Amino acid sequence: MAPPPELIASVLAKWGNLAPGPEHIKQHVAVVGAGVAGLVAARILQLHGHSATLFEREKSPTARFQGGTLDIHPESGQLALELAGLTKEFRALARPEGEEMRIADKDATILYTDAAAPPGAEGEGLRDRPELDRGHLRQILLDSLEPGSVEWGSAVQGAEDAQGGAKVQLLFESGSASAAKHAGKLFDAIIGADGAWSRIRPILSPATPTYTGVVSVELGIRAADTRFPEIAALVGQGTLHALADKKALIAQRNSGGNIRTYAWLPVPLSWPADTGIATMPRKDASAYLRTHVYADWSPRLLALLDAAAEGDDSEQYPVRALFQLPSPHAWKTYPGGRITIVGDAAHVAYPNGEGANLAMLDGAEAALAIASAGAEVEGKTASAVLEGKIIEFERVMIERGAASAADGDMLKEQFIFPEGGAKAAVELFRKMAG
Ligand SMILES: Cc1cc2nc3c(=O)[nH]c(=O)nc-3n(C[C@H](O)[C@H](O)[C@H](O)COP(=O)(O)OP(=O)(O)OC[C@H]3O[C@@H](n4cnc5c(N)ncnc54)[C@H](O)[C@@H]3O)c2cc1C
Repeated sequence: MAPPPELIASVLAKWGNLAPGPEHIKQHVAVVGAGVAGLVAARILQLHGHSATLFEREKSPTARFQGGTLDIHPESGQLALELAGLTKEFRALARPEGEEMRIADKDATILYTDAAAPPGAEGEGLRDRPELDRGHLRQILLDSLEPGSVEWGSAVQGAEDAQGGAKVQLLFESGSASAAKHAGKLFDAIIGADGAWSRIRPILSPATPTYTGVVSVELGIRAADTRFPEIAALVGQGTLHALADKKALIAQRNSGGNIRTYAWLPVPLSWPADTGIATMPRKDASAYLRTHVYADWSPRLLALLDAAAEGDDSEQYPVRALFQLPSPHAWKTYPGGRITIVGDAAHVAYPNGEGANLAMLDGAEAALAIASAGAEVEGKTASAVLEGKIIEFERVMIERGAASAADGDMLKEQFIFPEGGAKAAVELFRKMAG
């Protein structure tokens, strides 16, 4: 399975003529944020002959570890990569076996597993949601851009109209190197792909993210197959969800036999500060979790905490409170459609395995909407054409984001932290799998 050809054709047909030509204006677009949404948007604009420059706050492509692995869905993430002309690159690095899903109780008994059928066997590719490391995905997208497309170390503060609304420009901290470097750069459109704490969103909407009630502590184990074969066997080829007492340990296999474990805990927002866990050396943080949080869990599961602390203990584990925007999150389209937002900036929600997939699809469709707006339409100004395209793009994205957020809320209550623990999660999963 892959995105159905009819779906690809219908998306392209919806947006119409994309490439600049004698009667089609080349669009100059600023994309804020080089996450998955922004990178896909920039790639698709460039693919169709438009100009796209990414402004990214991080200093370099390697400034931050990109995190674990993502399952890439046919109807969203894969569709976006196909529209970006990157299916071959994606398939070369994707791990179909990573779809495997296990659910365990706190005694480490596996209550559910749905190992994907091996290649060639009946049922192979049934869901076709292969896993891809976030780092690999980012690299595929970065490599696909024209050289020099990303302005690293450019923290955007906002945006405003220029030339009476015929153009838009980005705002940077006054007196900063970025402000000097990018002064006077004007664009036809700006895509805010700058994540949950977007600096572009406030131009469109007063909404701010609120705490979901869950904190995530992220632990990593390198080369588990050779260093910790028992842990590797317990986790399997995909993701192990150990669930009990309204606590979760979610262990995901990444490429290279690496394992990332997320400890998800429904705790007050002040928990990281109260416990000091975010500033503890890894060994102490693992010991804290083992003693104070997962004390009566099986040693086979606690091994995930201990193994993560082995080796270099100079760094802390990333500790993140999870936030979400109110849903549905809607706003009035910016005049002339010259500023829009995509991905987490538009609809950050409780993680349900779809956020990055939707972000990529948003980025793809925003790019197609802008690319197609260069065509002349009788009786309409260029601004009116772009505004119409963005109104339509935002309408669909907002609906899609709201549906996904509702799904995330349901999964939080009924799958990750249900009253009945792992057994209830298994029942739900069986029901959902049909
Ligand atoms: C714990 C956890 C697990 C998840 N698991 C999954 C999963 O399994 N599957 C899935 O599909 N999704 C998952 N998600 C959701 C997914 O990570 C996000 O939805 C996705 O990364 C959003 O992409 P984005 O490009 O919109 O934003 P981001 O990935 O947040 O990228 C935003 C970019 O903008 C940059 N930026 C921010 N501010 C500025 C600024 N002012 N100026 C310039 N640049 C700026 C940032 O540095 C970053 O590079 C998970 C989320 C969490 C928290």
